[in-house]
Amino acid sequence: MSKKGSLFVICGPMFSGKSRELIRVVHIAEIAGQRTLLFKPRIDTRYSHSDISSHDGIHRHAYTVDTAREILTIVLSMTPQPDVIAIDEGQFFDAGLPDACLWMVDQGRRVVVAGLDRNFRGEPFGSMPELLACADEVTKLRAVCMRCKDPRVTAVLPQRLIDGSPAHYDSPEVMVGGAEAYEARCLDCHEVPGKPDVSGVLQGMLM
Ligand code: ADP
Ligand code: MG
Ligand code: ZN
Repeated sequence: MSKKGSLFVICGPMFSGKSRELIRVVHIAEIAGQRTLLFKPRIDTRYSHSDISSHDGIHRHAYTVDTAREILTIVLSMTPQPDVIAIDEGQFFDAGLPDACLWMVDQGRRVVVAGLDRNFRGEPFGSMPELLACADEVTKLRAVCMRCKDPRVTAVLPQRLIDGSPAHYDSPEVMVGGAEAYEARCLDCHEVPGKPDVSGVLQGMLM
């Protein structure tokens, strides 16, 4: 059996079930007798300072940390070492997260990271692209688009709403909020006023 561990990345928009899936993976690992440890960034204070919570009410205790380095410090302080390290809201961590995860994989740990692959502008979010590139396994989840409600479950992007209207492209990348500030939307329904037009960029390339 390989002495190396593995990296599993769970991504998708808000409400797609990332936290739920992360907690499920941890739960299954525990049934198999594995030691687990959960982490979340301090920036995410929506529900509880010490829990990872899903929008449908499932929660698990997690260490709240400020940096990726802090994850390593806590993991290294444990005896025996955890088998599975689960990290939620990966997009909010500093740029050290991929290296921290890969180091733990090198040490034989199974690392599971859940996070938004794209921000409200529809652009890659934080360290998630790097984590996705390095992952051994990737799950991309989708949600129900709250505008067209297509039953095929087509939402792939987080729609930021400010007082009910789509947020402008220049709005800050990080704005913590729940259902009052975000909803899941499909590509057809996603709106970002002020976003540079892709067809304009393409026309420039083709000239
Ligand atoms: P995430 O971590 O991706 O934001 P959660 O795991 O916290 O997602 O929550 C997933 C749950 O959210 C679903 O099981 C469902 O009960 C609920 N939910 C709320 N809005 C939606 C939506 N638009 N599409 C799918 N599930 C939704
Ligand atoms: Mg979540
Ligand atoms: Zn839609």
